[in-house]
Amino acid sequence: MAYYSSFGAAQGVTGSCHLLEIGYLKILVDCGLFQGRDEELNIEEFPFDPSEIDYVIVTHAHLDHIGRLPLLVKEGFSKKIISTKATYEIAKLMLANAAGIIQESKNPIYNENDVEPTLKFFGTFLEYGESMNLTDDIKISFKNAGHILGSASLKIEYKEDGMDKSAIFSGDLGQHSRIITSPLQAWEKGNYIFLESTYGDRLHEDLTISINSFKENILNTIKKGGVVLLPSFALERTQEILYLLKQMSEEGLLSNIPVYLDAPLAINVTKVFKKFPHLMNDEIKAVFEAGQDPFNFKELITTSLKEESIAINEVAAPKIIIAGSGMCEGGRIKYHLVRYLQNPLNKVIFVGFQVPGTLGNKISTMYNKTIKIDDSYIDVKADIEIINGFSAHADQSDLINFVKNLEDIYCIYLIHGDEQKLKIFKEKINDELESKVHIVKKKERIYI
Ligand SMILES: [Zn+2]
Repeated sequence: MAYYSSFGAAQGVTGSCHLLEIGYLKILVDCGLFQGRDEELNIEEFPFDPSEIDYVIVTHAHLDHIGRLPLLVKEGFSKKIISTKATYEIAKLMLANAAGIIQESKNPIYNENDVEPTLKFFGTFLEYGESMNLTDDIKISFKNAGHILGSASLKIEYKEDGMDKSAIFSGDLGQHSRIITSPLQAWEKGNYIFLESTYGDRLHEDLTISINSFKENILNTIKKGGVVLLPSFALERTQEILYLLKQMSEEGLLSNIPVYLDAPLAINVTKVFKKFPHLMNDEIKAVFEAGQDPFNFKELITTSLKEESIAINEVAAPKIIIAGSGMCEGGRIKYHLVRYLQNPLNKVIFVGFQVPGTLGNKISTMYNKTIKIDDSYIDVKADIEIINGFSAHADQSDLINFVKNLEDIYCIYLIHGDEQKLKIFKEKINDELESKVHIVKKKERIYI
């Protein structure tokens, strides 16, 4: 008998954790952190015995997909973690960074010492287009999910009552067009489709429009002699920004003004990106093949050390500062915001969605008002710009395309989406496709 249960990212977007029981084998797909409003769920016990899990298959290295792995190991998991090589390399950095933050939080579910023992269970690598037998009757394979470097969608083929069956986990899917990562690959056949639905209710702004807007905003600010602040996620978004700034540098648009990458995690993640040029799109591959570094240019200065970061303040404007965290909840960006938000010549460009309740979200709605950052009260006088089209997630039409040409679907199960969006997306699928569709409920157990 084969069953699927969701213990995270059902009727929500964080804490991805899906259990498959196929015969005697127990497979976990992802084991992520709950974040934002669901953060409290991280302290709940796993609703299964971690020591009985035979495999964890990791789709990609975002924390909402890997962030509870150290807890799983602490609670007894001791078998293999399967991922792409790139996912492993990034996960090493992301988990070490997360552990440092988690051990200082009010729910320290693990600490820095728990990361190394977790990494030991990685090392079984599966790449796009490859397959691997877990038993004589169970085979898994990966395709590129086009979401971030190394991200995979997963197919599991198994026998059930003598019948050949298959389940596909989309993982987080990327937009059809990305700045760095190569585009997602479609599957041809699958019976049970577990489909992420993060943006199942909307279409994204065109990527080219967003890129043009990003460049124009930077140009306008540096022409006025202001400081550009770019709060950025360390993984993928920073590298995208670096590549766009490199283009501007080569066109002579940066006029030799300094660009600081003031984010130690992002500096290290960028080094990992440079090891995997074959996973990038044709444009970026061509840059590598020409012997160039797509993430470096003459104006770029990386500042790993704290003293180097503080010294940025001494440099006169105009200048550009890229710093984490992406939603301004922590990291060096807070320090720069305190210093630069009060000057109307400056500009903050948000290049990612700002979750309600985060400092980034507050700033984006506080123009001309006073905001409290740590112990400082700041008048928000700097310009604020929000650019939405860089999203790493597929929009409604990308998601529909992922399932539209799939043969042999028995049912599409919607996961990884907020409740209201899931309902809208379900209706859209009902309108456009013949397939049966079901919104997975928290902890629901489904026979497949
Ligand atoms: Zn993701």
